[in-house]
Amino acid sequence: MSLTGKHVLSSDLFDREELERLFVLADLLTPVARGRKATRVLEGAVMASLFFEASTRTRLSCESAFLRLGGGVVNSTGPEIMSIAKGESYADTSRVVSGYCDLLVVRHPEETAVHEFAAATNVPVINGGNGAGEHPTQALLDMYTLHREFARTGRGLDNRRIALVGDLRYGRTVHSLMKLITLYENLTIVCVSPAHLGMPAALLESAERRGHRIELSDSPQTALKDADLVYATRLQTERFAGQPTPYSDEFRIDKALVSRVCRDDTVIMHPLPRNSRPGSNDLAADLNSDPRLAIFRQTDAGIPIRMALFVSVLGAAEAVPDSLRRVAWYRPEYTGPDDAPFYRNTAG
Ligand code: ASP
Repeated sequence: MSLTGKHVLSSDLFDREELERLFVLADLLTPVARGRKATRVLEGAVMASLFFEASTRTRLSCESAFLRLGGGVVNSTGPEIMSIAKGESYADTSRVVSGYCDLLVVRHPEETAVHEFAAATNVPVINGGNGAGEHPTQALLDMYTLHREFARTGRGLDNRRIALVGDLRYGRTVHSLMKLITLYENLTIVCVSPAHLGMPAALLESAERRGHRIELSDSPQTALKDADLVYATRLQTERFAGQPTPYSDEFRIDKALVSRVCRDDTVIMHPLPRNSRPGSNDLAADLNSDPRLAIFRQTDAGIPIRMALFVSVLGAAEAVPDSLRRVAWYRPEYTGPDDAPFYRNTAG
């Protein structure tokens, strides 16, 4: 399968072979992501990022990835500053912006909008998050992180116990992640959520059809035991339109809970942002110095894997190896003060 020229609207697009090809390409591009090598492989190409909803990581990391590939970026954020506020359709906006760029990244609160953008253009559209639907590039970075974290401790992605925790109904990252993780073999997937925030049935059924075991739980206290991965998520309050949403403090993933129920090699991830307001019952900051917490390695992984996706969609992957060159500027050896043990002897 070739990704060249494809729209990336759902994780359904990828199979295991394609995923692993992207991991290899991301490894190759990691020194570029870390500012230790440079490439101009996408010189002259332009990416447009159109974000109709809040974003920190997805927009900035897509733009940074494209810039580090030697491309250029134009962007617009928020419907209020675009002509959509004057009544322009998504189709017209998409067709117009496509004439200005070679790839679009679109985030929109309505699940169908990215599909309308894609239908109106031959220029590849990347879904940067569509309402409570999907977030395929987040799932790519989650899988790439997990592959690296498990590899460091001698584990592969098959035969694992995976706990997905929190708002599994509206959390689009876990929807895309379910589709990618179930490309692997023989998993036990524990979906841990209050009953009203459960994983959509279609995703559970499809995981079972692929031969995986599904367990449902509303208690992190018991369900996280023996997990290889704990993937925590934020309550998606923006999807509730002011309705009260019961969410007990059992869903606070903190040091006390992790030391009581998790193994020494459990990997703890979260797509971020985590809600750090008092009483938010999200992933707690008291885990920050715990080496099992992979959240910043996860955000770092967003650059090389998105670079790998962009060069693949633009048909330039084969040109990457010969395009890499040394850089002349200063960059600290490790980005975060606690990074050394995780990046020692690796590409960065
Ligand atoms: N940043 C992720 C997203 O856009 C996760 C979240 O917002 O909770 O879906």
